[in-house]
Amino acid sequence: MVRPNPPTLTPEQRAAASQAGIEARRARSDIKSRIARSEISIFDAINDQRAAIQRMKVSDLLGAVPGIGSRRVFLLMEKIGIATTRRIAGLGEHQLMALRREFSVTKSDVSQGALIVMSGPGGVGKSTITAALRDHPSFWVSISATTRSPRETERDGFDYYFLSDEKFDEMVANGEFLEWAEFAGARYGTPKQPVENWRNLGKSVLLEIEIAGARQVRASEPNSTLVFISPPSWADLEARLQGRGTDSPERRAARLALARDEMAAAPEFDHILVNERVEEVVATLVSLALGQKAGSNESEH
Ligand code: 5GP
Repeated sequence: MVRPNPPTLTPEQRAAASQAGIEARRARSDIKSRIARSEISIFDAINDQRAAIQRMKVSDLLGAVPGIGSRRVFLLMEKIGIATTRRIAGLGEHQLMALRREFSVTKSDVSQGALIVMSGPGGVGKSTITAALRDHPSFWVSISATTRSPRETERDGFDYYFLSDEKFDEMVANGEFLEWAEFAGARYGTPKQPVENWRNLGKSVLLEIEIAGARQVRASEPNSTLVFISPPSWADLEARLQGRGTDSPERRAARLALARDEMAAAPEFDHILVNERVEEVVATLVSLALGQKAGSNESEH
């Protein structure tokens, strides 16, 4: 049997790790005592970005609420369908909605999350940015519906909801889309309800959509922030699109023409971010979301 090598840490690394552990425990116990004193709600903890809080067990969080014993925590989690080992970061939309109901947390108790709309030409690196924000505790990345067929690596319900034309028509007719548009021979739309739910739960929502859809969101949600992702240069974008390899020359020319049209819409957006380094773009999007959230709080008071 091959045993994995135990991690060998230098004394400095060991000291740093134990210091980080102490700080994480301190942060968790501070949050729990503030909940116990009713200074903050469980949603203030759920929306706390710190990794130490996100890693906290849901049972510990609920156990801190005044007047709720471990037996009730257990029964409540069983009723909502939350596994006993679940941590805050792993809570889903329906579980969070159920917790809100159980603890009578109203919409005004939670500051509404921002709505960030991101567009930009194909090949600019939007999917890398989206992937980074999917892992961010303050964000929820919207899952669009589309009538196009899934690509090999795509999963239904994660990358997209892959729908038939009939089902898409039905959702349009029922007013279930926040926006929808046609793009390259298929239809794409943002389901409205989850966006509303997540924002009401305090998470900022990211939509990665094309330009016609971004314009619709601007019209229906004037409070949203529209961000255009731009390549460092036209030559850079050309190189990235060439790099996609298997395309025929006609297809490549069509992609470039489409990208040129998309680039022309950049001035309509609130912010243009040049994608030099993904981490910088992600950090800017996080701070824009926090700014919008704070702004909407101020206007409530
Ligand atoms: P793809 O088929 O390459 O995944 O996406 C094609 C284009 O559709 C991209 O520009 C993407 O941003 C856009 N898109 C994806 N989901 C939506 C949506 O829900 N609404 C709109 N309007 N565009 C979308």
